[in-house]
Amino acid sequence: MSSYFKNMPNREGFFGEYGGAMLPPPLVPQFAEITKAYDELSKSSEFLNELKYIRKHFQGRPTPISYLKNLSKASGGAQIYAKREDLNHTGAHKLNHCMAEALLAKHMGKTKLIAETGAGQHGVALATAAAYFGMECEIHMGAVDIKKEYPNVVRMKLLGASVVEVTEGAQTLKEAVDSAFGSYMGQADKALFGIGSVVGPHPFPMMVRDFQKIVGQEAREQFIDMNSELPDLVVACVGGGSNAMGLFSGFIDDDDVELHGVEPLGTSTKMGDHAATITYGVDSAIHAFKTLVLVDENGDPAPVNTLASGLDYPGVGPEHAHLHKIGKVNYSTATDKEALDAFYKLSSMEGIIPALESAHAVAFAMREAKNHPGKSILLNLSGRGDKDIDFVTETYGFGE
Ligand SMILES: *Cc1c(COP(=O)(O)O)cnc(C)c1O
Repeated sequence: MSSYFKNMPNREGFFGEYGGAMLPPPLVPQFAEITKAYDELSKSSEFLNELKYIRKHFQGRPTPISYLKNLSKASGGAQIYAKREDLNHTGAHKLNHCMAEALLAKHMGKTKLIAETGAGQHGVALATAAAYFGMECEIHMGAVDIKKEYPNVVRMKLLGASVVEVTEGAQTLKEAVDSAFGSYMGQADKALFGIGSVVGPHPFPMMVRDFQKIVGQEAREQFIDMNSELPDLVVACVGGGSNAMGLFSGFIDDDDVELHGVEPLGTSTKMGDHAATITYGVDSAIHAFKTLVLVDENGDPAPVNTLASGLDYPGVGPEHAHLHKIGKVNYSTATDKEALDAFYKLSSMEGIIPALESAHAVAFAMREAKNHPGKSILLNLSGRGDKDIDFVTETYGFGE
């Protein structure tokens, strides 16, 4: 095992000073049970072989790395490569941890998966995993998001999930989290809460990272196969931070590889106009763990806004807060405008329509290519953009 991961997190789930589990008392034994089960299963060859089988025969892994020849040429400087998580079944990296969470639930004797969803991407991935394992699935979603993201509601229903409409408060992600958590508390003996990123109370930031490590493991081998050397820069967008942790973990012990996380700067640096948590956040707590959080004047989680709803979260995975603090990963931002430009360019120049989330990583690569002549940049194309094409073209047209 790599040296970085040996004590990361510690037994209480802390990455340095971030992480932990600030749980309501009734959930303490439930999370202890999840931690114990994961501890055992992550060392079980039966569990790991099942996961390997699923990844190969259901998800279609390994996903390739593509050399982005035209984009590299147009950007001028570095050679740009993409790890193609858009080619993972259901079109994004999220299925990597959802299948593993469902497999964990099965081994724990659970029969049901519960979660919230914002744009519906996590809900679709978890509903897919539940269908595969023949489990019940209950997805909580704000009424506003249900209207906005209707195709994903249809997908979840086709996959057999029940979608619970949440009508409290702003009727979006935060209320959906509260609603899903409340429902989970009442049935934690038979259900597992399927958290959608490297966030939430311990052990989820660790587990979801471990389930996403496959991205970095494959990418490191594939890149060396293609180029007989490691990439100089490795880059991923950061919402909660799962696709970034997945890719970074393959290179975290390589001191010559620069790791870059890209946060969404939305329309401006004003609080409420972006979701750049590491760049503008403060030490605080959200959803039962300590991390950097974007807060309003009362110290409560601030409203966030970006074109890429999958990046709309006022917190960030505790491991990212730690990696930022120790200076191991560089975090910067890309605006809505830069992401949109990258969305159009990758589509028309390479034949790959990226998710707006992933377009933030593409934007960073295009911008930084000029500053790194002769170097190579490997970005995580975390998902495909089919979900975004109606919104983008109806709002902004077809680009230049
Ligand atoms: C959800 C999502 C993200 C953001 O989640 P992370 O946990 O930060 O990876 C990024 N890209 C795509 C395609 C997504 O669906």
